[in-house]
Amino acid sequence: MAILSFQDLLEHTKKENKSIYKIAQEEEAALAETDVDVIRLKVTENLIAMREAIKNGLTSTEKSVSNWCGDDCVKLPEKYKRKHALFGQIFEKITTYALATAEENLRMGRIVACPTAGSCGIVPAVIVAVSEEEKIPESKQIDGLLTAGIVGLIISAKVRLAGAVAGCQAECGVASAMAAAALTEMLGGTPGEVIQAVSLALKNILGLTCDPVCGLVEVPCIKRNAFLAVHAVTAAELALCGVESKIPADEVVDTLKITGQLMSPLLKETSQGGLAKTKTALELEKKLGIKG
Ligand code: SF4
Repeated sequence: MAILSFQDLLEHTKKENKSIYKIAQEEEAALAETDVDVIRLKVTENLIAMREAIKNGLTSTEKSVSNWCGDDCVKLPEKYKRKHALFGQIFEKITTYALATAEENLRMGRIVACPTAGSCGIVPAVIVAVSEEEKIPESKQIDGLLTAGIVGLIISAKVRLAGAVAGCQAECGVASAMAAAALTEMLGGTPGEVIQAVSLALKNILGLTCDPVCGLVEVPCIKRNAFLAVHAVTAAELALCGVESKIPADEVVDTLKITGQLMSPLLKETSQGGLAKTKTALELEKKLGIKG
């Protein structure tokens, strides 16, 4: 049973009267020729690795090759101790954890590519931060991660999840949709609401380009993780309120693919356009001895 569209997924949930995560774990178990418990154990290992990446990222200020990045995450708790963020403690944790994981990636630390290394901070930040603050048990977090997984799988059946293929909409954008789905599931949303959260998140990042400065997964990648983690929460909250995307999720994914095809190659991980060709980026290229 291969589920290749969100429409398909929704029909399965209705026909079998099951949540999305149940369908996801059964699919995975069938693919791996194992049972559901083994799959849940594997997902738990990923969850633990995500928490460790956050912990490690929070305690390091080691800078990157460019010397531009690596010490932003520690600035957040310092400020939040003095004055809380306007959006409260969950926002504080989400932004901090997203930066912590993305900075850990630039140090070549252990992260979970979810769906890619450049976008590795988004799903963990949302799942871990909200779970800590809302006291969501581990089994529910696993349900959330399984939900995120099947969302990534369905999108990747149509679009390759790489900045070089469809820009950052296919990396951080998809990560945001996966996080929105996970959160909606964890907060008790219906399968329909989970899929609405995916549509809402994806629709609002269409066209996001991939223009990493000096070809390094640093600028704009690291901070983008914090922004799109918060974006995921907006999508989940709207979906849980009953707000629906007029364009169905499958059509949004088709649009993401077409938008990627229409995007100039200069803006697809070649570092030949966008932020990568600003005056400041060119100066850094020169300093690092990189030929543009
Ligand atoms: S800007 Fe490009 S390299 Fe950076 S996270 Fe997005 S897709 Fe990946």
